[in-house]
Amino acid sequence: MILDMPGAHCVNQEIESRCRHCRAGSYALCENGSLGQGSRGVGGGWGDGFTAYETEVYRVPDALGDEAAVMIEPLAVSVRTALRRLPQGEERALVVGSGTIGLGVVQAVRALSPGCHITAMARYPQHSHCQGQAERCHQGGAGLSLRSGGTVMESAVYFRSALLLVVATFVVFRLFVRRDYQRKGRLSPFSGFLELLIWGLYMGFPYIYNPPEWAWFWSSDAPVGMPLRIAGVACILTGLALAFITMFWFGLRRAFRLEVSGLIQSGPYRVSRNPQIVGGSLLVVGSVLLWPSWYALGWALLYGVVAHTMVLTEEEHLRDVYGDAYVVYCERVPRYLGFSRGLWNG
Ligand SMILES: [Zn+2]
Repeated sequence: MILDMPGAHCVNQEIESRCRHCRAGSYALCENGSLGQGSRGVGGGWGDGFTAYETEVYRVPDALGDEAAVMIEPLAVSVRTALRRLPQGEERALVVGSGTIGLGVVQAVRALSPGCHITAMARYPQHSHCQGQAERCHQGGAGLSLRSGGTVMESAVYFRSALLLVVATFVVFRLFVRRDYQRKGRLSPFSGFLELLIWGLYMGFPYIYNPPEWAWFWSSDAPVGMPLRIAGVACILTGLALAFITMFWFGLRRAFRLEVSGLIQSGPYRVSRNPQIVGGSLLVVGSVLLWPSWYALGWALLYGVVAHTMVLTEEEHLRDVYGDAYVVYCERVPRYLGFSRGLWNG
């Protein structure tokens, strides 16, 4: 049994005088679709059961397995599309989109008009989980595949979201966090939450906003050669190590009740005043080396803006709390990396 449910139309609503589209067999374009008559609205595709009009029910041949049968519906869409204006002779056809229906259109046009030239546009030519849409298009019979993606639109969205994040970063760190430090000498839970939110949004940036040119989420495998791959992995491992050493050092000090409230100047803090920021930057740089693109470069610059804004706000606070001791420490140890006098002079 298989069901074809294009929505309410003249036939399944039993409307006597059928509209022009239903007379032509284009039920999806029915002008009476919104009338809401008949026995519709009971159950649905995800329900335990539902009612369907008798003309919508088709018997699936026994020889056809369930997995093939469920493809009849999307293939029917493709075949119908191909039949509405089938390319003749050696005409050229452009198929926009290479998802299930687009691939079906390529196959249907190829089967029904073997002589024509088909070009398919694939948004994700190298999708790892579907073995490359471009390759599938070739298998289906497209002679040529193009990469689509509305690049101009996507870069506009990217720049806008990046700009929003920069603005949000300034508001959170320079207004909320700074005000908390000045008034209370510590972070309020609300500012702490905002700080976490900024970093969460930053880390989520490649996932929330993921154009095909910056295929992080889609292709788990890095699209670069061995030297970049080694450099990227080395950066990420060093960054992780630095982050863990810093956290470990922090925890160790606290566990032995050393410098609990004082200024920590030992361990990784002898080399950099912000070892965790340096560690984080290595993680970002490593990811950019593994998945290089202009989008990735922008993301790395964004890290600099977010991290530096946070560091400047914290420095003001530390100077207020520790005074001269902190100024001396700043003279001895670089903010991030650089010639570290503290390492040599003790
Ligand atoms: Zn109709």
